[in-house]
Amino acid sequence: MTELEPCPFCGAPALGVNLREVAPFVAEPARTAKRKFGYSAVCSSCGARGPFIEVEDPFNNEQGFAQVEIATAGWNGRAE
Ligand SMILES: [Zn+2]
Repeated sequence: MTELEPCPFCGAPALGVNLREVAPFVAEPARTAKRKFGYSAVCSSCGARGPFIEVEDPFNNEQGFAQVEIATAGWNGRAE
C-alpha cells in the first residue's frame, strides 16, 4: 500500500484515507436520493482533503482497496 505524503498545504501528517458518504446536491425525497460513497485522504491538522474517489459499493473490499490506492495517489499529487 502506498504511503500518504505530508499535507501539501500545512506539512502535517495525513490522517489517512477515509470512506465518506456524500449527500446528493439536489434536494430529493429521501427514498429516491442516491447516496454516494467514496474515499478521500484527509489532513490531521488543517482538514484539507484529497480528491474524492467514488466507489459503487462501499462494502466491496477488493474495489475499496483499489480506490484507496487511487485516493492516496491523488493526495500525493500523482493522480493520472
Ligand atoms: Zn494540512
